[in-house]
Amino acid sequence: MIKRLLLVLLISSVLASAQTTAFGTKATANATAPAVTDATAPATKGASKAVEEEVDNSVVITPFRSLTPAEAKTSRTFQLSKVNKLGFTETTRELQRLYSAFATQRIIDGSPAGSSKATGYLATVNYALVQDLGDNRFLAKAAWPATGPNEVLAAGVDTMAVLLLDKPAKVGDTGKITGMHVGTVALRFTANYAPLAGKRFTLRREAFVECATLEDSPAGLQKFVEAVIAGAEMSATTNEQISCKKCGGLGQIREPQKGSLTDKLTPCAECTKGKVIVSVETKFVP
Ligand SMILES: [Zn+2]
Repeated sequence: MIKRLLLVLLISSVLASAQTTAFGTKATANATAPAVTDATAPATKGASKAVEEEVDNSVVITPFRSLTPAEAKTSRTFQLSKVNKLGFTETTRELQRLYSAFATQRIIDGSPAGSSKATGYLATVNYALVQDLGDNRFLAKAAWPATGPNEVLAAGVDTMAVLLLDKPAKVGDTGKITGMHVGTVALRFTANYAPLAGKRFTLRREAFVECATLEDSPAGLQKFVEAVIAGAEMSATTNEQISCKKCGGLGQIREPQKGSLTDKLTPCAECTKGKVIVSVETKFVP
């Protein structure tokens, strides 16, 4: 399902974009305008046809940089049968926290399980549509928060992005979606917005596919627990703050100095004050 969405995003749509260009409007104007004289009418028609052949209005979207790697640095298991048992770290509260993370990382789709694991970072994307690229794909002015461990996907602030929306929309529409980041794409197109109208060029932009995530509800948690007990393989990835291994959590590195009794102290380059944020995959077992 997700792969199909990505394909839809990348397929170029020469036809769809041709319909929405200025030429469509021009042709209509020619047709409705009263014919001035018999001599000028065919000439205008001929000229507009010649321009139409010159301008390339195809939209070509190709992957430029693949998905932000979502792989976790470490993994651990959460055993449901140990919840709230003395001597174990599994608690109801921790289960709730992890389930909340799980719910936001699952994409509702047509798979037998009803949802599948998101393959890219999910972010709330606010947008204003700038240009219709055909097939529900749009160039949009967008904003989203930084996501991923150590904010791998930088925040967008009034940033042009490519969006694949669920429902038809039109230029000028604004809205908010849950978007799955599907990597950076190279978009080759002819701009039809000021001040670049008519200019054909390539933009490299972050691309998002609109999606729906699972609802974080008690009923959802119940269903999730039942699925795990029945043997479903489920996992959630969370950002956890852990002590830095390189400096032992001190935040600085000691080096003996020649001819000096005191050690040289260098701030550790791999952490902030001895702490690092790592992405941890928690696998759920019965
Ligand atoms: Zn460190």
